[in-house]
Amino acid sequence: LTVGVVREIYPGERRVALTPQNTALLLKKGFQRVLVERGAGAEAQFTDEAYKQAGATLVGPGEIWSQSDVLLKVRPPTDGGEGNEVRQLRDGGVIISFLYPARNKDLVAKIASRGSTSFAMDMIPRISRAQVFDALSSMANIAGYKAVLEASNHFGRFLTGQVTAAGKIPPCKVLVIGAGVAGLSAIATARRMGAIVRGFDTRSAAREQVQSLGAEFIEVEIQESGDGAGGYAKVMSKEFIEAEMKLFMEQAQEVDIIITTALIPGKPAPKLITNEMVAAMRPGSVVVDLAAEAGGNCEATVPGQVATYKDATIIGYTDLPSRLPTQSSTLYSNNITKFLLSMNPQEKHFGIDFEDEVVRGSIVTQNGDIIPPAPRPVPP
Ligand code: NAD
Repeated sequence: LTVGVVREIYPGERRVALTPQNTALLLKKGFQRVLVERGAGAEAQFTDEAYKQAGATLVGPGEIWSQSDVLLKVRPPTDGGEGNEVRQLRDGGVIISFLYPARNKDLVAKIASRGSTSFAMDMIPRISRAQVFDALSSMANIAGYKAVLEASNHFGRFLTGQVTAAGKIPPCKVLVIGAGVAGLSAIATARRMGAIVRGFDTRSAAREQVQSLGAEFIEVEIQESGDGAGGYAKVMSKEFIEAEMKLFMEQAQEVDIIITTALIPGKPAPKLITNEMVAAMRPGSVVVDLAAEAGGNCEATVPGQVATYKDATIIGYTDLPSRLPTQSSTLYSNNITKFLLSMNPQEKHFGIDFEDEVVRGSIVTQNGDIIPPAPRPVPP
């Protein structure tokens, strides 16, 4: 089988789906050829020379789509525009990338109309065995880390406290709302940089995880479990949201940086930080909204931009993993390579086993048929 790796053409995307190291691994595991588009890894610091040394065949744009049996990508194929990628998909070919099929129904229909088989990296079930394929977690980890660095860049002081000859510097206070993978990564990073960190989440498991990273877990008085299906969050009652927002209003007056990561799968992000709260923060404070792409947790967020409201900066970047392109490409490549190898692809035959929970969970189309999403656990 021939594997193809294209240069991502989505504006600002710096990641690449496969590293030279994993190129060599796929060849060692029996893939006949790995075709890499010239310059595909350039923005992630993987040179054409490095791919060549790993055994890849470098080709020009356009050639990969027609010659690859399995195409590896980061972003969903583009639909429209000059480089219309979906139109280049091959009958009987396989594509593996982020796809978000629930919000990209037209794209899925077009992939199917090309006769292709597709897998969505974002639909891989989050079961223990599939942790090595879990690209959502890999990217969330990077986003949480980078969120703290971005906050620190825009914040006019150290995060850590110091006693210097020129004066005593108090540590910065950081509040992280939502302690999933990204939130925990942000907490760990801010702690390592010396900040005083507080964490909040609606799920019961979060408390211990936040505390184990040396942060304080803050709570509301209302007792309501935020545990939904499969360990994910559920939509909270109006009363709970009100109580949590009252807590955040108090916190806004005390902390210097707020990092929000609150998401509920398949729903718009809850609006938790109002303009009034941002206005109550000290001058120079920073909010980083990791939920910006899903509508944002903060009223003042402008998705994709750095905005200001009163005397605070609100960072709404939606491409944080791509801002650490070498790291994110390395982890994504490990996830996608391990996923591909787990399907045990044989020569000219792609072993699609619907009994495999991971395959069943992530397959979106098969040879032109749209496969309905696998049943997910129902909330209790
Ligand atoms: P996510 O990105 O979907 O959401 C981020 C966080 O926001 C969650 O922790 C959620 O509880 C929280 N949240 C939602 N509404 C909120 C509100 N109103 N106020 C405050 N916080 C709110 O989360 P994620 O990073 O994908 O993690 C979700 C769960 O999945 C966690 O339990 C995590 O441990 C689990 N997980 C499991 C695996 C695995 O087993 N392979 C991998 C990744 C994540």
